[in-house]
Amino acid sequence: MAVPFRRTSKTRKRMRRTHFKLKVAGMSTCKQCDAPKLAHHVCKECGYYDGAEVEGVVNK
Ligand SMILES: [Zn+2]
Repeated sequence: MAVPFRRTSKTRKRMRRTHFKLKVAGMSTCKQCDAPKLAHHVCKECGYYDGAEVEGVVNK
C-alpha cells in the first residue's frame, strides 16, 4: 500500500478543509422574491412556484 511521503502540514490540512462547509441540501432561492426556499416546494414568503402564484395550499 502506498504511504504518504511527507506528513501533511497544519497549513495544508487547514487549506484543504476550507472547502468543507455545512450546506443544507435541497435549498434554492425563489425566482419571485429571492428568499431561500426548499427546491420543488412553493415559496413560503410569496406563495409562488416556478414564477406563478399557486392558489389553495399557500404558507403551509
Ligand atoms: Zn418567493
